[in-house]
Amino acid sequence: MIPAGVREADFRSALREFADAVGNDWVFSRPEDVALYDDAYSPFVGEPDQQRHASAALAPTTVEQVQRIVAIANRRRIPLYATSTGRNLGYGGAAPVYSGSVVVDLKRMNRVIEVSEEGAYALIEPGVSYLELYRYLEDRQLPFMVSTAEPGWGSPIGNALDHGTSQVIGDNFGMVHGLEVVLPNGEVLRTGMGASVNSRLWQNYRYGFGPYIDGMFSQSNFGIVTKMGFWLVRKPAMQTMFVVSSFKHEDLHPLVNEIQKMREQGLLFASGAGSPIRSSMSSNNGQSPQGIDAVNDLLARRDGGAPADWEQLGRQHSIPVSAVNGSVRGPVPVVKGVLEHAREVFAQIPGATFRENGPYTFPVQPAEVPESQKSRLGIPNLWAFSQPGIQGTSHGHYFFSPVFKATADDIFAINDTIRNVMLDAGDLEMLRHLGWGGGAGFYPKAYFILLEFMIRDDVALNRRRRELFQRLVDACGAKGWNEYRAPPAFQDMVMDKYSFNNHALRRFHEAIKDAIDPNGILSPGKSGIWPRHLRKT
Ligand SMILES: Cc1cc2nc3c(=O)[nH]c(=O)nc-3n(C[C@H](O)[C@H](O)[C@H](O)COP(=O)(O)OP(=O)(O)OC[C@H]3O[C@@H](n4cnc5c(N)ncnc54)[C@H](O)[C@@H]3O)c2cc1C
Repeated sequence: MIPAGVREADFRSALREFADAVGNDWVFSRPEDVALYDDAYSPFVGEPDQQRHASAALAPTTVEQVQRIVAIANRRRIPLYATSTGRNLGYGGAAPVYSGSVVVDLKRMNRVIEVSEEGAYALIEPGVSYLELYRYLEDRQLPFMVSTAEPGWGSPIGNALDHGTSQVIGDNFGMVHGLEVVLPNGEVLRTGMGASVNSRLWQNYRYGFGPYIDGMFSQSNFGIVTKMGFWLVRKPAMQTMFVVSSFKHEDLHPLVNEIQKMREQGLLFASGAGSPIRSSMSSNNGQSPQGIDAVNDLLARRDGGAPADWEQLGRQHSIPVSAVNGSVRGPVPVVKGVLEHAREVFAQIPGATFRENGPYTFPVQPAEVPESQKSRLGIPNLWAFSQPGIQGTSHGHYFFSPVFKATADDIFAINDTIRNVMLDAGDLEMLRHLGWGGGAGFYPKAYFILLEFMIRDDVALNRRRRELFQRLVDACGAKGWNEYRAPPAFQDMVMDKYSFNNHALRRFHEAIKDAIDPNGILSPGKSGIWPRHLRKT
């Protein structure tokens, strides 16, 4: 394929120029090579006309090569799409948002440029994966954990730029301190203190002087990031996770209140909430469905089951109705002190049970740690792909990921909203799969539901599921729970919900896009930001 609106002869000339820039071997245009950039988890399996494809891919190794690529693309009006390790499965993989774009695959730019032992940060290139960063640190016996996403083959840069999350620190973009970016006009920009000459603290202080612009390069199409400062987490002496559970429905309120208070005081680095009995039939989030039909029956009731029904069912199967979790790490006396405090706090809730997972004492040897716990301890791995939900289909899944308040009220309300949309759609299989979305607590004051939409061989079913996705975006959006991230197929739909004051935010994005990328060459359509010539009126 060639990009729409580009003449074949021009495209061929552009490929020759790209080859001059990066070397012949690093321009991929044969269909079998380019197909590797398709989204392996595309929601359009069996619908070839709907799929997004790259027209070619380029693999530069230097910033200068990226600049030359951008210059050629501007001259020839070729759309580009930048990826770091290109593993964005569940949110689009390496496939461009705008079909026909040339993927700028930054995997070969994989140098760890610096690790500061005193400053606890790394300065890295986009192709450095979590696994590689871990290996780099371990080989040199540096005392840091990697704030890895579940799939260790992803990259700090790609993952953080897409607002990805880890079990080690939560908000990976929060760990970003200093970016180097090739702008759509080919110029190189350094943000924060990196903008000063002979900067000595690019990775120590993120703001520099003037507007803080790093966020503009996340989930955007305003530049290609070629370097990033990423803070590391110093290995603690000890880390322990705990779960507090209760067989009472109403206890979710005090449980969440107390866990949030601990989080706000900085005592916990992670916390979350959920309903184990309601989720016990779900294969989502790595659980094995427990075969309790009565759970499905209650979920499928219009009222979602009365609290007393859930309590009875929970007791019958010895599975709690309400639960929260927290994670604590630091020096041994500190961890022990926080745990003692937590036990005291939760002892105020009659019937609540406190259970610890750990302690893990550092240095932790990977062989000592269960696979499911490795990423929590900063050991990148691919365990998540062995989970029952994932195994249920060979086509993977995409995520529906709304954000809501870290309160029990919001957890109940969003679950009811989602349940009712699924019931209206008559999709009991998805309802079972949701089970009951709890709060993945990556951020201190917000929870996420990460609902996997399994992709099947059945095209009609996949189509219905995409409609269901739209209904969920609409229903949740109407209540202010919008998505934090979305696969390309749904990015316009999600951006549409951020519509305050006649889409002032989108218009602002578009004004920036027009100013800095007048030819609209960089990642057209990413996050619903289209260049002028492709914009729908
Ligand atoms: C089973 C499973 C579990 C998952 N668990 C997690 C999890 O725990 N946490 C999580 O966050 N995600 C998770 N994901 C989603 C996703 O797979 C990861 O976030 C993954 O790390 C993203 O891929 P990547 O790091 O290779 O980023 P990339 O694919 O390289 O980049 C992501 C996007 O960012 C943009 N981008 C990348 N690099 C640049 C650049 N240099 N300049 C400008 N723009 C750029 C591009 O638009 C790109 O599409 C999971 C997915 C699956 C299937």
